[in-house]
Amino acid sequence: MSDSDLLFPAPGWPTLAVAGGGRIPLGRIFCVGRNYEAHAAEMGTAVDREAPFWFTKSPHALAGSGLTLPYPPGTRNYHHEIELVVVLGAGGTGVAAADAEALAFGYGAGLDMTRRDLQQDARAKGRPWDTGKDVERSAVIGPIAPSSRSGHPRRGRIVLRVNGEVRQQADIADLVWKVPELIAALSGLYTLRAGDVIMTGTPAGVGPVRPGDRLEGEIEGVGSVSLVIGPPGG
Ligand code: MN
Repeated sequence: MSDSDLLFPAPGWPTLAVAGGGRIPLGRIFCVGRNYEAHAAEMGTAVDREAPFWFTKSPHALAGSGLTLPYPPGTRNYHHEIELVVVLGAGGTGVAAADAEALAFGYGAGLDMTRRDLQQDARAKGRPWDTGKDVERSAVIGPIAPSSRSGHPRRGRIVLRVNGEVRQQADIADLVWKVPELIAALSGLYTLRAGDVIMTGTPAGVGPVRPGDRLEGEIEGVGSVSLVIGPPGG
């Protein structure tokens, strides 16, 4: 097969911006559910202590920081979730937690935007979360700070403001499942590759956004992410 066999033009492959220059071709987007105690409690659940649990977003759900993106269709309760994001710079399978941190290329701030009404309806019915979570352009990820320059963040304030007002605030030290544990657990399920992304879960304070809202997220020592919610659209 060659490109000339393609019956439709291949879409451009999504990439992640690196702070200081360069881009990373995105692999997969893995997301962790319920990884801060206070957020699990506000959702009426508890953190699963046996293993982290996962859902995914399609690579084409990726969006860069600083954009105005439409309020998505099919929801009346679109929510913000600020999260620490890890991007892998090397892959592996069956990785031990002690070796896992070395796989992290770098870290950024991200927004796991969520159709909360659809997610909660799916949860109540025991159905998959895809329509609530795998929303077009719902994985908004700011510039990635390489660990070679900034190290591996273990603590630091994580905050999200909507129109200048603090809505979510915690410390990434409060992550129940830490980054090395997440990478190790995920590598027991998948063959991880460079460019794979882990969105590590959100702290308490999630809530709805409306057209015109300006979202600004920041993680101390890591980076920032921003998003403006545009009018309804696809
Ligand atoms: Mn999330």
